[in-house]
Amino acid sequence: MTANGNAQRLIAVPDDIEGESTQPFNRPPRLEPAACLLCSGSGWEFVPDRGVRPCLCRTADRRMKLLAAANLPRRYNECALSNYYPDKANGTQLRAFRLAHHLVEEYPAADRGLLYMGTVGVGKTHLSVAILRGLVEKGVPCLFYEFGSLLKEIQKSYNGVSQTSELEVLAPVYEAEVLVLDELGATKPTEWVCDTIRQIIGRRYNDRRLTIFTTNYTDRRRGPADETLEDRIGARLRSRLFEMCKTVVLEGDDYRRRFDAENL
Ligand code: ADP
Repeated sequence: MTANGNAQRLIAVPDDIEGESTQPFNRPPRLEPAACLLCSGSGWEFVPDRGVRPCLCRTADRRMKLLAAANLPRRYNECALSNYYPDKANGTQLRAFRLAHHLVEEYPAADRGLLYMGTVGVGKTHLSVAILRGLVEKGVPCLFYEFGSLLKEIQKSYNGVSQTSELEVLAPVYEAEVLVLDELGATKPTEWVCDTIRQIIGRRYNDRRLTIFTTNYTDRRRGPADETLEDRIGARLRSRLFEMCKTVVLEGDDYRRRFDAENL
C-alpha cells in the first residue's frame, strides 16, 4: 500500500533460470503479474476511503467453478435469458419468461421454485438453464440434472465395480442450493423410479430448497392414450410439485421446426 492509500501494483521479478543467468539481457524480461493486479493475490481489493472488498479475480474464479459444477448440458451452452425470445402473442411463453427473470432477480428472496410443463421444443430446458446461468452469475451454487441421466447414475452406483455410492450421487442433488430436474416423468414410472422422485422431492421440500422442474406432461389428456403428469408420477407427488412451485403450461410450436425450411 502506498502512503496515499492506493493499492500498489506488484509484479513478479523473474527468477534466474539455470544456464541462462550469464546472459540475462538476450531475452526480454519476463514481467508476469504476481497473481492479480488488483489484489496482488490477497483476494481483497482496497477501496480508497471505504476499506476492502472481495476482489474481482476471486468472484470471477468462483463463478467459473460454479459454472463447471452446475453440470449444464453442453447442447444448451449458449442458452441465456437474453436469447430466449418469447412469442409476444403467446401469454404462456411471456409468463414463463417473466417468472424466470423474477426468480433470478429476487433470489434468495424467492420462496417457490418453478414447474415448466408443456410439449417438446417450447423452451422449457432453455429457460431452466438460463435461470441457473443467471444465478451462477450471482454466485449461487446450482445443479442441473436431466432426470433420466440422474436415475442412470444412481443405478450405476449399485453396480459392484462402481466407485460411487447411491448417497454420493444423491447428496449433491439433495443439497444443491438451486436444482433443475429436467424432463420429469420421461422415464417409465416403475416403483423404484417413483420412490426415487419421492425421496428427492421430499428431502428438498423439507429443507426448503428451491427446485425447478420441467416436464412434457401436463394435466390435460389430449387423446385417450395420452398420459398426464399424475399418471406418470402419481397424485401425491403432482400436488407436492404444485405446492413447491409456480407453474406454467407453455404452449407453442417446437422452436426447432423454425429451422426446418433452412435445412431442406
Ligand atoms: P423443451 O425443453 O421445451 O423441449 P428446449 O428448451 O429444449 O425445449 O428448446 C429446444 C431448442 O429451441 C433449444 O435449442 C432452445 O434454445 C430453442 N428455443 C426454444 N424456445 C425458444 C425461444 N422462445 N427463444 C429462443 N430459443 C428457443
